[in-house]
Amino acid sequence: MNLYKEIADLIKNSKYSLAFTGAGISVESGIPTFRGSQGLWSKYDPEEFAHIDSFIRNPAKVWKMIREMFAIIFEAKPNPAHEILAEMEKRGYLKAIITQNIDGLHQLAGSKNVIEYHGNCKWLLCLSCGKKEEVKRELIEMLPYPKCKECEAPLKPDVVFFGEAIPFEAKTKAEREVQRCDLLLIIGTSGVVYPASQLPYMAKLNKATIIEINLEETPYTHSITDYFLKGKAGEILFKIFSELS
Ligand SMILES: [Zn+2]
Repeated sequence: MNLYKEIADLIKNSKYSLAFTGAGISVESGIPTFRGSQGLWSKYDPEEFAHIDSFIRNPAKVWKMIREMFAIIFEAKPNPAHEILAEMEKRGYLKAIITQNIDGLHQLAGSKNVIEYHGNCKWLLCLSCGKKEEVKRELIEMLPYPKCKECEAPLKPDVVFFGEAIPFEAKTKAEREVQRCDLLLIIGTSGVVYPASQLPYMAKLNKATIIEINLEETPYTHSITDYFLKGKAGEILFKIFSELS
């Protein structure tokens, strides 16, 4: 039997399947991975620009990086990998997606049950009074940085910076989902960003079948992965999806 058919059958027979996605799934949408040679971290040291202490110390400096990040994300559109996952959910083959991405592309592709583990780029948040403002171009372009209308404090994108905790609701929901699933698709993640990286191990503890789609091997590949499919997310998912329908 061909491998893609075998995996499609596992998905069909699973009671609760989940996808866990990372930056790799959005590369084909034009968003380089932060850590890659084209990524933001090749230009901006994350310790200096993406740490919450840096933001508090010098919001104007960090906002230069944030503006660049928004410019990339505003241009991005969902790719076939996002679209196939959305279609799988619609047909009942996928219950939820836990994503480490902040780009909102799963929802743009039509996915409904998406847990954004690291927050998203839809909102700006006032760290001082808690007011939330929807992201708009004119707000992003304010110099030296967008300010809260209520208290004048700098607004910060509602994404998780280094040194910040995972939002309670996302963390709780994600953990509940991985403990519940019997099949987990790991897609486009290097598995090194803690604590998100721990979620697949929790799924495995609960005896879920682990299917990994990545360009390179990861810490999961030889520890918990049952099926490793090397390649681009869109191409591999298309092969699986073709056997599903
Ligand atoms: Zn405020």
